[in-house]
Amino acid sequence: MVRVVVVGGGIGGLALGAGLRRRGIEVAVFDRDTDVAATGGYHITLDQRAQTALRELLPPEVFERLLASSSALRLRDRDAFWDRRGRLLGHGPDLGADPSADIDRITLRTLLAEAVGDDLHLGRTATGVGHDDHGTPRVEFADAAPATGDLLVGADGTHSLVARHLAGGPTNTPAGIIGFSGRTPLPSLSRSERERLGPRSGLALGGHGAALYVGYLDPVGNAALDRPELCMALTTGPTYIWGAMLPESSATDALRGLHGEALRAALIARFAELGWSEHVLEVLDRADPHTVAAFRFNAASPRARELAPWPAGRITALGDAVHATPPTAGMGAGAAVRDAADLVENLGGAGADPAALTAAVDRFEAAMRLRGSEVITRGMMTVRWILATDTVLGAAATTLTTPLLAAATRLLHRR
Ligand SMILES: Cc1cc2nc3c(=O)[nH]c(=O)nc-3n(C[C@H](O)[C@H](O)[C@H](O)COP(=O)(O)OP(=O)(O)OC[C@H]3O[C@@H](n4cnc5c(N)ncnc54)[C@H](O)[C@@H]3O)c2cc1C
Repeated sequence: MVRVVVVGGGIGGLALGAGLRRRGIEVAVFDRDTDVAATGGYHITLDQRAQTALRELLPPEVFERLLASSSALRLRDRDAFWDRRGRLLGHGPDLGADPSADIDRITLRTLLAEAVGDDLHLGRTATGVGHDDHGTPRVEFADAAPATGDLLVGADGTHSLVARHLAGGPTNTPAGIIGFSGRTPLPSLSRSERERLGPRSGLALGGHGAALYVGYLDPVGNAALDRPELCMALTTGPTYIWGAMLPESSATDALRGLHGEALRAALIARFAELGWSEHVLEVLDRADPHTVAAFRFNAASPRARELAPWPAGRITALGDAVHATPPTAGMGAGAAVRDAADLVENLGGAGADPAALTAAVDRFEAAMRLRGSEVITRGMMTVRWILATDTVLGAAATTLTTPLLAAATRLLHRR
């Protein structure tokens, strides 16, 4: 019987562990974290393809709880676009037929971990990867005995030890933007801001590479599956989970060293310096300081042939380890989940024979390169658009066009 060792119990690694377990394949998932819920608290969009993959990977009752704990896009208003003063520039498409659902990353990870059960081993930091004397894939840990398996999968994220071992170096580079995230319950906002933001997500662009995404999450009022008794969402009421963005520079980098209250105050001060209105920054100001965090956007190459640039073998990787994607596509976790489903599918009849396993990995990696290329291309489009507002021409264009767009939108709404 095949034994699979997975390094990394984030979204992709846990999805893989759950899927293998469901198929009766022996698996062990190792993560350095000691608590699955002690992780970033932004929300994750699961499009139709990601939901289909999860339906295959998870036991039906866990999948139902996942839907009952997600916020359906079709139940919220169209996305909005604003300028840095909060003037409406336009709306996104109608979401009435959009099957996607947003779920808190902590809720998603907790449910996936439950599906993996006692095959998940926490508090295990991988320190080395290779093969033992018999050529069997092996991982070493900081404080525990090594683990071996017929197949070893690196699902260890953007700074993956496993993918670096396979590629001989990093598999991605900084994308040029530093992101800041936090969560603000809707009732914490003033009435005027509650009305301006509304039950929708939106993006404000302000020139100089500054942008503010405000995501609306309401897994209670907007549940994707109306089964309140199954809801285990962490977010118990309508909440804005926001992501502020600034171009990388020494000034922005300095913010990365700050935490909580100090980070929130410095971030607001930086946006105010760039001319953002006080009321637009209220959503940052009213955030729970414990939820405010800074992180760098990384991206792998959008060219499919440059992803997973190693010959197929019995050590492979998936998710951000291979195709790190800036969050601007809202598709990174979805792609990691789809990688997991595809690997489970390919391993189906392979058995423990090394040649058959290598052939299964080869098929899996070929499809993953295309998946990765699609999501990185989408994510980088928005990154380039935001960074373009930091050029002389881009800043001038933003200054000139946004008041015109705002005026045109006001006129349209008056009709
Ligand atoms: C602010 C933000 C918003 C996002 N929004 C979305 C969204 O809306 N939709 C979407 O699809 N994606 C989104 N993403 C992206 C998404 O979170 C990632 O793409 C996704 O989690 C990738 O899954 P993964 O399993 O590859 O990596 P991760 O989920 O990052 O998991 C990697 C795991 O490996 C573990 N690990 C790392 N090194 C070691 C080691 N040496 N030993 C043991 N364990 C190790 C880590 O502890 C971690 O648990 C967003 C990301 C950010 C930052």
